[in-house]
Amino acid sequence: LILCDHAMPGFGAPAALAIAKELRPDLPFIIVSGAIDLNLAVALIKSGAQDYIHKSELIRLGPVIERELRDASLARQRKLAEEKLHESRELFRAIVENVADLVAVLDTEGRRIYNSPSYRPLFPEEYIRQGSNSFLEVHPEDRERIKEIFRRTVATGIGDRAEFRFVLKDGSIRHMESDGRAIRSAEGTVSEVVVVSRDITALKHLEADLRAMAATDILTGLPNRRHFFAQLEQELARLHRVQGHRASVLMLDADHFKRVNDTFGHAMGDSVLRHIAVLMRDALRKIDTAGRVGGEEFAVILPGAELPAAEVFAERLRRKIAATPMAQSGKVIPLTVSIGVTGVNAGDASANDALMRADRALYCAKESGRNKVAVEI
Ligand code: GH3
Ligand code: MG
Ligand code: MG
Repeated sequence: LILCDHAMPGFGAPAALAIAKELRPDLPFIIVSGAIDLNLAVALIKSGAQDYIHKSELIRLGPVIERELRDASLARQRKLAEEKLHESRELFRAIVENVADLVAVLDTEGRRIYNSPSYRPLFPEEYIRQGSNSFLEVHPEDRERIKEIFRRTVATGIGDRAEFRFVLKDGSIRHMESDGRAIRSAEGTVSEVVVVSRDITALKHLEADLRAMAATDILTGLPNRRHFFAQLEQELARLHRVQGHRASVLMLDADHFKRVNDTFGHAMGDSVLRHIAVLMRDALRKIDTAGRVGGEEFAVILPGAELPAAEVFAERLRRKIAATPMAQSGKVIPLTVSIGVTGVNAGDASANDALMRADRALYCAKESGRNKVAVEI
């Protein structure tokens, strides 16, 4: 604290104040003088002096000093707190602006307070401006679920992990994984939610590709044996669930396929299998499922088809295959198939029961001369 007289030989309060404000603007500056006019005192206070005390009222000096020291101490603490806040803000920025993850700070209504720069490649600036509704870019099918999770985080203060989709301006979809964290104010109520999200689109696509690969036969592109069985199990479950639902299943085996391999080579045999798969797929309705269940064995599920209709379909397929030999590299390879037909019964304990019946019917078709359709009820 500086106490300063007004008029000294060759020096005075205005010059002292100027020096003090330049070197230590935080120190209270109080003028104590018996000879200063009121206008000058007011001018000095305007330039930053804290108070002016006439020597005739020195009784005021003690309380003024106390007041000024108290104010100066408060100002110092405030400045310190601001510096700390600034430091932590800088730290926050340094972290969130240098990670690939998307960091968003939202108010308790889900409006944007802050978005990290990593949002920019995904969304145009006007989408992610402050105050905008952060749920708008969430896929409509995911929006309510995400809002509910957000509301729960605000209500309980306990964050949660969520998967959802963003819809970008061009309509493309990004798969995201987010972690929400509630931020509490000094009073303990949730004031903000910090959401850290990762773009898991590539992972999701890989996952979908792997799932498709695991379910698909590479040679023909048809569902493989495992996937076909799973489909048939589902059909059986539907039969148990839905009163009056019917379904039939076909087993199909290429006749004398060994001869095709022996005569034209294994690669050509593969082509013939692909050719059969194409003919089968063309003959099916959207709701039917064909699968490759063995080397040169295929099977078909016909949902909703009673046995007579399934037999008609099998007969048409048999004739179609027999009438469409495969032509490749100047060679024409005729081929026939034998087909076993059976209904999927409510009494079947598993998909295997129905397939065993279809397989027995197929055996009969082979026994009765091949290029035949046989039915087992
Ligand atoms: P049939 O069914 O009429 O009794 O006679 P088949 O000659 O078809 O019966 P078999 O089961 O004895 O032989 C099936 C042949 O199918 C044997 C095998 O080499 C061939 N095969 C199985 N899988 C493939 C495959 O993926 N590619 C090729 N090219 N041949 C295959
Ligand atoms: Mg076979
Ligand atoms: Mg065969």
